[in-house]
Amino acid sequence: MTKTTKSIETIISLCKRRGFIFPGSEIYGGLANTWDYGPLGVELKNNIKQLWWKRFIQDRDDMVGLDSGLLMNSKVWEASGHISTFTDPLVECKKCHERFREDQAEKNGSCSKDKKPHDFTEAKQFNLMLKTFLGPVESDENIVYFRPETAQGIFVNFKNIVDTTRKKLPFGVGQIGKAFRNEITPGNFIFRTREFEQMEIEYFIPEPKDEAEWEGYFEAWRGEMHEWIKSLGIKANEIHELEVPKDELAHYSKKTIDFEYDFPFGRKELYGLAYRTDFDLKSHKLDYTDQDGNKFTPHVIEPSLGVERTVLAVLLSAFNEEKDGDDVRTVLKLPNSLAPVKIAVFPLMKNKPTLVAAAEEIYHELKKRWACEFDDNGNVGKRYRRQDEIGTPYCLTIDFDTLENGDVTVRDRDTMQQERIKITELQDYFNNKF
Ligand code: ATP
Repeated sequence: MTKTTKSIETIISLCKRRGFIFPGSEIYGGLANTWDYGPLGVELKNNIKQLWWKRFIQDRDDMVGLDSGLLMNSKVWEASGHISTFTDPLVECKKCHERFREDQAEKNGSCSKDKKPHDFTEAKQFNLMLKTFLGPVESDENIVYFRPETAQGIFVNFKNIVDTTRKKLPFGVGQIGKAFRNEITPGNFIFRTREFEQMEIEYFIPEPKDEAEWEGYFEAWRGEMHEWIKSLGIKANEIHELEVPKDELAHYSKKTIDFEYDFPFGRKELYGLAYRTDFDLKSHKLDYTDQDGNKFTPHVIEPSLGVERTVLAVLLSAFNEEKDGDDVRTVLKLPNSLAPVKIAVFPLMKNKPTLVAAAEEIYHELKKRWACEFDDNGNVGKRYRRQDEIGTPYCLTIDFDTLENGDVTVRDRDTMQQERIKITELQDYFNNKF
């Protein structure tokens, strides 16, 4: 078996061809760096989000969930420091007026005006928050920002959550939702976009007595993140931790570890884990009173995960091209929990009504529990290929023996092994698989 190099173009083309991800506004010439999730993409994305929600919110006693608004009072962003510090330095070419991130300016070729090198201005700070106006009047007092992270929605609801859930420290709040950043250099497919989704946890801990105390919580979350990454089918050797140097830390952070993934365009941040100290709750003037009546500001450990970067890393890790005789088999070896289609059901021949009827009956029965697809198009070999390419773990074929013996062929995506299973045992069989 051979494994060919995965290029981002191969993944983009598979995503488009099979309905995972489409370029945004395509019929109107597109809108740069926007992407729409197609029928399979939305399933994959939802599976990732559901897995995260179950693992970190529902299965734990020390976590609760939240769904806060995209739009918040601008005072939130003043207090959080985003209005003053959520910026990237930008330079502008004095001739063609194109703008570049200062650290990437040199890489951006020649000026479109005269084909000579750009002539850059001094760097200026550019705020990454997207703005709009609420209400019919476009005035300064009506400016609101699309949230650039989900985190602040959690902080501003801290008191509401403590009062309503009676959670005691340490406990965490998790949220999944859209965030917007007016990125200067979006690109690399869905890696960096201006609209994206985050899965964030703010884990509140008592005021630490010493370094060891917060480090204990930090280490626990570091372990949790590796376990999560493993559950996505991403191999440990594709992930690299990078401790952000002290002078590059965000204004709120005392320690940050980036979890980097080997993308085809380089080793880049997949997730972040930060110790945010008591910065946020202090900024919002929020505190906590423990059982003994002591009032203090909790500190925060934040595991922050991007949904789209997860989708991309999952697709890249799962993508394989294998030699199969003279042919190459493209297969997405997705974990069962993430596969958009769990079981594909085939009647051996589409022009034999008895086979089709038996296949349809099994399909409708299984579909009540698992995402299933019915396919009677082309020969069975081609149907296997189509399912391999979208990561369907099991294909089930109904043939003439089914009608005689009441059993079907179940074919495994990864091993390509086939076994005969009684129809009456299919529910148990798949219960054990999923
Ligand atoms: P980067 O250094 O790549 O800009 P960041 O350090 O600014 O990322 P955070 O603010 O820590 O990112 O955001 C948490 C997570 O949100 C990131 O680890 C990433 O998964 C995701 N994320 C951030 N910005 C984007 C974006 N523009 N597009 C897609 N995902 C993003």
